[in-house]
Amino acid sequence: MGVHGSCHCGRVRLEVPQAPAWVADCNCSLCRRTAWRTAYYPPAQVRITGETVAYVWGDRMIGIHHCPVCGCGTHWATLGEDFGKMGINARLLDGFDEAAVEVRKFDNAA
Ligand SMILES: [Zn+2]
Repeated sequence: MGVHGSCHCGRVRLEVPQAPAWVADCNCSLCRRTAWRTAYYPPAQVRITGETVAYVWGDRMIGIHHCPVCGCGTHWATLGEDFGKMGINARLLDGFDEAAVEVRKFDNAA
């Protein structure tokens, strides 16, 4: 029994095995704008349903997905190289409370 989540319109649904113990607050040029709080899981443990659109920029290592209807950022996934993890926008998870988890500042400003 995992933790579920969805984008605002509900077309994209997420399921992860457990609530994150910590999330990343990244200051890169994209996250500064989108305000993701990113939680990391092995891809095999994540289930995502619904159509998403991937935005690719910078070093082109990952696709950063969002719902094409409501625009919510949903997850990022590798475009090839196996990182052993993927990122989920924890803000979409049911019951997510930023005050209740550790928020780690990622310094990726560029
Ligand atoms: Zn949506």
